[in-house]
Amino acid sequence: MENLNRKVRVRFAPSPTGPLHIGGVRTALYNYLFARQHGGELIFRIEDTDSTRLVPGAEDYIIESFKWLGIKFDEGVGFGGNHGPYRQSERRDIYKKYVRQLLDAGRAYIAFDTPEELDAKRSEVENFQYDASTRLGMRNSLTMPKEEVDRLMAEGKQYVVRFLIEPGREIVVDDIIRGEVRVSSSILDDKVLYKSADQLPTYHLANIVDDHLMEVTHVIRGEEWLPSAPLHVLLYEAFGWTDTMPRFAHLPLLLKPIGNGKLSKRDGDKLGFPVFPLEWHDPKSGTVSSGYREKGYLPEAVVNFLALLGWNPGNDQELMTLDEMVGLFDLSKCSKNGAKFDYIKAAWFNHQYLIRQPDEKWVPAFDRILRENGIETTPEKEAEVVRMMKLKVIEYTDGQGNKRKRNISFASDLWPLCKFFFVAPEAIDKEDKFVRKNWKEGTAEEITSLMEVIEGIEDFSAEGQKSVVDAWAEQTGMRPWNAWRICLVGAGQGPDMYELSSFLGKEETLRRMQRAKEILS
Ligand code: GLU
Repeated sequence: MENLNRKVRVRFAPSPTGPLHIGGVRTALYNYLFARQHGGELIFRIEDTDSTRLVPGAEDYIIESFKWLGIKFDEGVGFGGNHGPYRQSERRDIYKKYVRQLLDAGRAYIAFDTPEELDAKRSEVENFQYDASTRLGMRNSLTMPKEEVDRLMAEGKQYVVRFLIEPGREIVVDDIIRGEVRVSSSILDDKVLYKSADQLPTYHLANIVDDHLMEVTHVIRGEEWLPSAPLHVLLYEAFGWTDTMPRFAHLPLLLKPIGNGKLSKRDGDKLGFPVFPLEWHDPKSGTVSSGYREKGYLPEAVVNFLALLGWNPGNDQELMTLDEMVGLFDLSKCSKNGAKFDYIKAAWFNHQYLIRQPDEKWVPAFDRILRENGIETTPEKEAEVVRMMKLKVIEYTDGQGNKRKRNISFASDLWPLCKFFFVAPEAIDKEDKFVRKNWKEGTAEEITSLMEVIEGIEDFSAEGQKSVVDAWAEQTGMRPWNAWRICLVGAGQGPDMYELSSFLGKEETLRRMQRAKEILS
């Protein structure tokens, strides 16, 4: 059962029923890390046997998400490989053979109960379950003569194939993260494995058959699949594949940032963070859900942040490249307990990655926001603003309405802090604390005097100005630095004054000083 002598093969097997949830991204990431560190292979399989739940565009969305995130698959839909096809809807004939095998071995049976008949039973019997205690009272190949079964099938009557589960057995799921999980087979129902209506297997059968045929050695997936695992163990046994059964690892849930329970899209909407990697346009409702990419996250930051939801390297290291994670990751050290989704921390990670990249890399995103606000300027100017402002702090209101501060974490954070670089302050609030404190009697005269000095400066670089203005301040004893800031920024914020005036240029600097005097005198 250790599978030590087999080449590690893992799979990420989403159902294309909508956009990929961020929890699914983490599952794929852990599979990726595990495959890489064992020199194994990662398969991308599409589980699309439930045709009623398919959503157009979802498959492409999932593929594009991983492309953006830099998580690469070795084989699967869109990647090739010699265990295909990798889309379950293209494997109908394969599954039929295995359904037949279970029927022939007496491990499964055919049932003709209609949905109406099943509903009637449910309202008649409390907690009705199709199992050993009830199956002999139902319309199936265990209770009907063979001729009748054959006749109904020949007539084209719809049927399902159910897995025959013997009660009273202890099933052991050997989970890398959770240890041995023991479940009695008596609580399981005779799950539907195949439906004649669409000639497709259900998730359970297709999943097991494919994991077997694709030589999967480890099934790493979300905790929500743990309840299916005992059934899967029984299926491996029924097929006679116990020796090559994959090892299971059920990952901890992602939990709400505030309160209890599973992270949901609602939490993201309420607190203002995405739960999807990319923006998603729902084809039916037309609603748009935000994505990490469009919000301004760097893929490296998303991957790093997600990796630490449920695992950590056992020291204080938080910033890790994908390659470093491959070296450090340890599936067996994953937590059993759910991981709170700390979206503030997500922004912190993005800040860390943003400030480590060259200023020019911010430009495309910053430029987009500037254009949205009617500003057209040069990439050089934009990069310069980034250099001056990227380490500033912004205020925001958290999910509970408290004012808080955080680092600049997105290019979009820059705009409210940087508007004055591009637009002269329209009005200056005379009642503002900083303005009241720093614009007093006599300030206008000092500004006039400073304007005269500035007029005469030839080298208008920050250093060039500094030497001249410092000498003037030394000589006259005037130090109208805060008032100067009020002129250029309109408030008590912004970068170094010489850097700012040099960015604005002499003409604009003087114009703003003149204007402030008019407004405030
Ligand atoms: N198709 C399932 C999903 O959507 C796969 C579960 C599994 O990994 O076994 O997550």
